Amino acid sequence: MQIISTVNELRAWSRAHRKQGKTIGLVPTMGALHAGHGSLIRAARERCDVAAVSVFVNPTQFGPNEDFARYPRTFHADCSLAESLGAQVVFAPAVDEIYPEGAETFIEVEGLSDRLDGRSRPGHFRGVATVVAKLFVAAEPDLAFFGQKDAAQVAVLRRMTADLRLGTEIVVCPIVREADGLALSSRNVYLNTLQRSQALVLSQSLHTVEALVAGGERGAEALLAAARSVFATQPAVRVDYIALLDWATLQPVDRAQPGTLFAVAAWVGETRLIDNTILA
Ligand code: AMP
Repeated sequence: MQIISTVNELRAWSRAHRKQGKTIGLVPTMGALHAGHGSLIRAARERCDVAAVSVFVNPTQFGPNEDFARYPRTFHADCSLAESLGAQVVFAPAVDEIYPEGAETFIEVEGLSDRLDGRSRPGHFRGVATVVAKLFVAAEPDLAFFGQKDAAQVAVLRRMTADLRLGTEIVVCPIVREADGLALSSRNVYLNTLQRSQALVLSQSLHTVEALVAGGERGAEALLAAARSVFATQPAVRVDYIALLDWATLQPVDRAQPGTLFAVAAWVGETRLIDNTILA
C-alpha cells in the first residue's frame, strides 16, 4: 500500500489506473479508523478495482470551540487497517496541501447546510463540502463511499455532486454499531464508562420510533414525542435535535413514509453524538 501526501501524486495515481480501464473508489475519512470506516473500505474494494482512503482532519469543518486540536489521531493504526482491508492508497495530505496559502475558495450548499448539524455547527457543512470537492478533484473517483451515520452530510454531498455534475457516484453504507447498539464513532473514545452507558439512549430512541412505525404509527408528533420520552430517561444527556425529515431536503415532515429520515443528536458530557435510521 502506498502513502501519498500530495494532490498531484494522487491525481497521477488515479489517472494511471483509469488509463488501464480500472474503476477508482475513494473513502474520505478523518482517520481514527474503526470498523465503521472499515465497512466503507470493504465496500470500496468490492465495488471498485482500486481504492484510496483519505485521512485528513479537516480544520474548516470544526467550529472555533470544537475538538479539532484533540480529535484522535492514530495514523499508523489507520494505515494498517486500510492495508489489511486491501486499500491501495492512503492519502494523507498536510493542511497546506488542501488549503494552500491564501486559499479563498469554498463550496456552500445553500439551505441544506443550515439544517440539522449545520444549524448547531455553523460552517460545518461548508467545510465538509469544500474538502470533499477538493478530494474529488484530486482523486477523480468513480465511486465515493460515505456512512449513513452522517445522514445530513450525505444529503449535502449528494446535492453538491449533482449541482456540480461531478460525475462521482455517492455510495451510502449502513451504520456499523457496537453489540449494544451504540453507533461506532471516532468520538466514542471521549466517553467515560457512565457516559458510554448514557449514550445508548440515542440508539434506543431509534428503536422506539422504528417499533412504533412497524406498529402502524406514522404521525410525526407521536413519533417525536415517543423519542423525547426515551431521552427523558437520561436527563444528563442534552438533546440537540430529534427530527423526522425528508432525507434529500432535510425538511421536517408531518408523516413518516418509507425512506423518511429519523435523526437525533445529543451531547453526552462534552461529546456530541449523532445517530439516525431510515424508516422502512
Ligand atoms: P469521519 O472520519 O468521522 O469523518 O467519517 C468518515 C466516514 O465514515 C463518513 O462517511 C462517516 O459517515 C463514516 N462512518 C463513521 N462512523 C460510521 C459508522 N458507525 N458506520 C458506518 N460508517 C461510519
